[in-house]
Parts: sequence; C-alpha cells; structure tokens
Amino acid sequence: MDKILETAKRHSYDVILIGGGVTGCSIAYHLIEKDCTLRIAVIEKDPTYEKASSSLSLANIRTQFSLKENILISKYGIEKLKTFNEDMSVGGSRPLIAYKPEGNLFLVDEKDRDLAHDGIRLQKEHGCNVEWLTPGEIIERFPSFSPEKYAGATFGPDDGHFDAFAMLSGYRNAAKHRGVEFIEDEVSSIVLKSGKVKGVRLHSDFELYSDIIVICAGAWSTAIAETAGIDIPVHPVKRQVFVLDTKIKSRTPLPLTILPSGFYLRSEGSYILAGKSLESDARGFDFNVEKERFFDVLWQELVEFVPSFEELKLLRGWAGLYAVNMLDKNAYIGEWPELKGFYLACGFSGHGLQQAPAVGRYMAELILNEEPFMDLSVFGPERLIDNKPIEEKGIV
Ligand SMILES: Cc1cc2nc3c(=O)[nH]c(=O)nc-3n(C[C@H](O)[C@H](O)[C@H](O)COP(=O)(O)OP(=O)(O)OC[C@H]3O[C@@H](n4cnc5c(N)ncnc54)[C@H](O)[C@@H]3O)c2cc1C
Repeated sequence: MDKILETAKRHSYDVILIGGGVTGCSIAYHLIEKDCTLRIAVIEKDPTYEKASSSLSLANIRTQFSLKENILISKYGIEKLKTFNEDMSVGGSRPLIAYKPEGNLFLVDEKDRDLAHDGIRLQKEHGCNVEWLTPGEIIERFPSFSPEKYAGATFGPDDGHFDAFAMLSGYRNAAKHRGVEFIEDEVSSIVLKSGKVKGVRLHSDFELYSDIIVICAGAWSTAIAETAGIDIPVHPVKRQVFVLDTKIKSRTPLPLTILPSGFYLRSEGSYILAGKSLESDARGFDFNVEKERFFDVLWQELVEFVPSFEELKLLRGWAGLYAVNMLDKNAYIGEWPELKGFYLACGFSGHGLQQAPAVGRYMAELILNEEPFMDLSVFGPERLIDNKPIEEKGIV
C-alpha cells in the first residue's frame, strides 16, 4: 500500500495500461504524444523486465508476411526504426536501436513455390523490397549454405534485427518524460461496476480508477481478462534460442534464415543464434533452457544446411514466452465489443516487437476516437466472438 501511495500520483486516470512491455510503452508514448493533458498510468509488475517477452526477443523485423496488414505494419516499423534514436531522445540522451538490415531468407519447398511467388507479388505491390533466389543464387550470396533440396528462397534485404531493449526503454523513457506515470505493482483484477469498466485492483488491494483499461500484459493477459469475465485464448508458450560459437565463421553476416520446417538461424556478431518453434513446445510459465534440445532437435538440421558449422560450441541459450493466440496466432488489437472501455493489445505470438510502433499508434488513435493512420480492424477482437480466424502464412 505504501509503495503504491508513493508511486501513484493520483487515484483516477484517463487510461490505465496493464503491462509495461514494448506494447504498453508504445501505446502510452503515442497517447501522450497526441494529447499531453492525458493522465495515463502504466502498471508494470517487474520493471527489470526479466521475463517479459520484449527483453527475450530475437528482435527481427520483416515485411515477408502473407497478410496485407502484417506487411504494412512491418513496413511502417522499418521506417520508424530509421529515426527511432532521434525521435525518442530525452534531454540529449538517445536510445541506440542498432537496426541491422541483414536480411531475411525464407527457404521454400517445391510444393510451396506458387505460394511464395504470391507472397512476393503482394509484398511488392505494397512497396516492399523482396526477391526470389534460386538455389544457385543463394549459394552465390551465402556460400556456406546448402539449399539444393529446396526450390529456392524469398529474400528481403531490408528485413533485419534491432535492439529489443532499446525499443522498450526508448518508448518508456519518452513516455515518462512527457508525463506518463509508471507504477510498479501487479494488477490482480479488473474492477467493474454495473457492467462497465471502472478500474483495476492492485496486488496491495489498492484501487486505481479509469473508464479505459488496456490489457497489454503479453503472455499474462488471459488471466487478467478472466477477472472481467472475458475468455481469450492467449497462451504462454516457451520458445528457446541457442547461442553457438562455430569453429568456421561466416565472413559476412548471415541473414535470419528460416527453413520450411521452422528451423532458423542468423548471425549475431561472430556467433550464431538458432532455434525452432515446435508444436510440442511447453505451455505455461517455464523459462528453463534445455540445452539437450539443441543437440536432439536442431543440430542435425543446422549441419545439413550449413555443413561448415559441424564443429561448434553451444555457449548458452535462453527461453522466453510467445503469447500465442490459439485462434490464429495473430494479435487482438482493439476494444472488446461487449465491454466498453476494455481494450486488448495482446496475443502477438512471435512478431509483436516489430509491431509495436504501428500498434502503439493505432491503439492510441482508437482510444482517442481519431481516424486510424492504418486500417488494422482485421485484428479486432470481435473475430474471436465470430470465430473468424485471420489467415497469415508467415508465422514462425
Ligand atoms: C524467444 C522469442 C523470440 C522472439 N522473436 C521475435 C522477433 O524476432 N520479432 C518480433 O517482432 N517479435 C519476437 N518475439 C515476440 C515479441 O518479443 C513479443 O510479441 C513482444 O515483445 C510482446 O510485447 P508485450 O509488451 O506485448 O509483452 P511483454 O514484453 O511480455 O510485456 C508484458 C508485461 O506485462 C507485465 N505484466 C504481466 N502481468 C501483469 C500484471 N498482472 N500486472 C502488471 N504487469 C503485468 C509483465 O511483467 C511484462 O513486463 C519473440 C519472443 C520470444 C520469446
């Protein structure tokens, strides 16, 4: 209670955001940028972000999606990364987003060749830089790869990665500087009165009031929504990434390379990162790294594709959570149709970091009843009630 009274400057707010990961910070930043008189609170239970997906992310951004909206979201994100350091500078101190457009290479099986060309056509239609590479052309650019058994690959040279924590802290610091309050506590439930959103109850039993609540609590979102009687199928799923020191190094950075099986690798300085999402990945809040998994599941596939990586040292690994929307693996972004003032921005699976710039702005515009800069209504939560999943073929 004392801690809350120290940190919360008031009891009522215009908007309360539950979860101060990259999504919450971006929404808060965009809200306060649009209206500096707004009283906004972001409640974050762990400001070290030790377990937040935002700090355990691979931080890749790509326009290689099959759904127009996902393409446009990432295209917008890439543009924002270019000026992020200046845009988020606070009192002369700038984040270092370190955007590295080292490319994304999606290997394609023969059976999916037409689908891949459809994807290229759509991405090009929306102004993205993407091309088809034959196995020979792949080897020319990346001589260590053995792509012979594939039909080819789609390559997006502007895709790449950046510093995830710089994005999170960039939005957070800029929002804070403009007057957003960050409160260290845990939301235990949503407060409703006469069927309307009234606020949140915190772990300490203290209550904060607002007619507008946004659930942006990543893999923890479902439990909070349940307290308002709303059941969303967003589940925490463990994903592991391994850091490898290969004896033979690639002379140029290897792009994020994704095989049709879901196996992926990319350079990180002189090291290699590798992983693979599996249907059997544990559900729940499990952060243990199973090093044996690398040798049991990933090693053979890696060496088949990059034979020169046969000798390597597994240095370490980490595990984080995808907040997986079991309906269609895409986010819920918008107001819950049956409860006014109750907004969702969660369920991003493995592509939420790159979506934060666009989603933050879009959510701010929805909340403020402004004309959205981009039509993202396809992600509205009503599709859950209507049982109308979105089809996105580029889920990794
Ligand atoms: C291994 C891995 C690789 C990934 N790779 C990529 C990638 O390459 N590209 C990409 O775009 N995305 C990637 N992602 C996904 C991306 O990281 C997430 O989609 C994104 O970070 C989600 O951000 P968020 O703010 O919604 O959630 P989070 O970052 O998880 O933040 C949610 C916050 O809510 C807080 N919270 C939870 N419950 C409460 C409560 N009751 N009260 C108060 N606070 C609460 C948590 O402490 C947490 O800080 C990856 C994720 C993982 C795990």
